[in-house]
Amino acid sequence: MTYKNYPMVSRVVFGRGSFNQLDEILAPKRKGRNAPFIFYVDDVFKGNHWLTSRISLSYNDKIIYIPTNEEPKTSQIDQLVEDIILEYSELPSGIIGIGGGIVMDVAKAVSLMLTNKGQSKDYQGWDLIKNPAIYHVGIPTISGTGAEVSRTTILTGPVRKLGINSDHTPFDQVILDPELTKDVPTNQWFYTGMDCFVHCVESLNGTYLNAFSQSYGEKAFELCQEIFLEDHLSKEESQDKLMMASWHGGMSIAYSQVGVAHAMSYGLGYLLGVKHGIGNCIVFDHLEDYYPEGVAMFKKMKEKHGIELPQGICADLTDAQFNTMIDVALSLEPLWENAIGKNWKTKITRDVLLKLYKKM
Ligand code: NAD
Ligand code: ZN
Repeated sequence: MTYKNYPMVSRVVFGRGSFNQLDEILAPKRKGRNAPFIFYVDDVFKGNHWLTSRISLSYNDKIIYIPTNEEPKTSQIDQLVEDIILEYSELPSGIIGIGGGIVMDVAKAVSLMLTNKGQSKDYQGWDLIKNPAIYHVGIPTISGTGAEVSRTTILTGPVRKLGINSDHTPFDQVILDPELTKDVPTNQWFYTGMDCFVHCVESLNGTYLNAFSQSYGEKAFELCQEIFLEDHLSKEESQDKLMMASWHGGMSIAYSQVGVAHAMSYGLGYLLGVKHGIGNCIVFDHLEDYYPEGVAMFKKMKEKHGIELPQGICADLTDAQFNTMIDVALSLEPLWENAIGKNWKTKITRDVLLKLYKKM
């Protein structure tokens, strides 16, 4: 048995208003006048003075707004990398991603592809990256995915939706400022928050569970219960705690794996473009046979916050389309092995998945 030697984020700052320290954190990392800092910022913050006025640009530093209606594609990453190479004479001093999972994943992927030849699609998989990335910083503005701690950046490529998983993927620096999440709309808060809840349920009920994952997973699970089911937290406390739940949930799956909801949600994402958070919710709502307690709790949370999930999104699909989703879901073997056990293939047949997808 070889145990994973897991890379972690090297530095992290936590606290309301800690975003104000960005400048002083970046200053020592500047490599020169011609080596800019590139800030990828969620385009929801375009014109939002409260946030953008605190990003100070020197020399040829630049803010690039990233649209978040679709999840990142390998072609988009390659284009962003090319834009940088064409515009500047030197490699950037750093890449800073300010936003949700999408923008953080874009920042990670660009920082990797600036120092690794070829196209990003060729690096989708495990440990294909050869050279260390450019210095990269993650600043979440919505909590739940755990993208701020993970060693992956999830990309949709021409043939697969799969992360670039590598020791060089984790951020060199993360700034956790819960105040940045104050304007997240309720539905999105719920979907992305539930990504964290589902990470915990899948990790804690998986066959890969170990004391490392369990200790993080239990803490995150407890925080999610407090945030989504209890009434005693102030808005600020709730934001602070969800940011830490996301972190712990990410740490929990780092050393284990996700499960049924994620495998099936990838199928929905690949075929229909359903986004990660809401996709997990749509699937998880039907997984009472696999995660009875987690699903019961999820339904309570949904009700408490008046969330109505889209229904019938698979109603008009063709057999070929169902088959595509089933192929994508089944290809994620470690997720099934974690969820069901080594003999998962005897239990998870195409027919089982078809029946589940037809309910969604
Ligand atoms: P997101 O990045 O898709 O953003 C969701 C929405 O929230 C967007 O419309 C965005 O504009 C908005 N938003 C973000 N911050 C806001 C704020 N402060 N105020 C108002 N609106 C705000 O959301 P997400 O759920 O964080 O990320 C999903 C993405 O993360 C997917 O692409 C998924 O594949 C990826 N992901 C990555 C990992 C990883 O480990 N790398 C893990 C899970 C998910
Ligand atoms: Zn997830």
